[in-house]
Amino acid sequence: MKPFGGIDLNYTERDSRAPNPKAFDKIFGEQGVEKARRALRFVLAHDVATAVPGLRSPREVGHAVAVAERFHELTEREKEQYRFGQMPPEPFCRECGLCVPCPEGINIPAVLRFEKYANFYGLPEYAKEQYQRLNTKADGCTRCGDCVKKCPYHLDLISMIEGTHKALALRV
Ligand code: SF4
Ligand code: SF4
Repeated sequence: MKPFGGIDLNYTERDSRAPNPKAFDKIFGEQGVEKARRALRFVLAHDVATAVPGLRSPREVGHAVAVAERFHELTEREKEQYRFGQMPPEPFCRECGLCVPCPEGINIPAVLRFEKYANFYGLPEYAKEQYQRLNTKADGCTRCGDCVKKCPYHLDLISMIEGTHKALALRV
């Protein structure tokens, strides 16, 4: 699901109620199409039965089908560029969602996703921007420990989200 989720394709600018066949090129340009192709190639290189790009016009479907039909495997250069097969360093959140809801309304998987954006994907500015959009930041944590009990990966969640807040909250 969401194979474009990690790249800068802004779905909110796409009008799903009245899809415009030219919208993809207009919004994303040729670079956007190329980014989408690379993202799909990355997904198809894994052991997946189906990729669900969430496309909204026959033209977009055509782009995706063309990638799938030509796909065999990533090149060695692509594997190196995409850090194929690498996982974030432990401890990291798998975003299973089992720790929420937090009584204070903190979106714990999102907070820890932005930590990965900053430290694993090398996108600190983007991570800060995304973190600012959260309604409840991690400094709202009362340290009740509910999430820690529910996390099947036994993450030290309180210190992880506090550390993320320190790293991503904008100084005022
Ligand atoms: S410890 Fe903090 S983040 Fe975890 S559930 Fe309690 S208030 Fe929410
Ligand atoms: S339960 Fe643990 S791994 Fe799952 S989303 Fe929450 S923090 Fe992440």
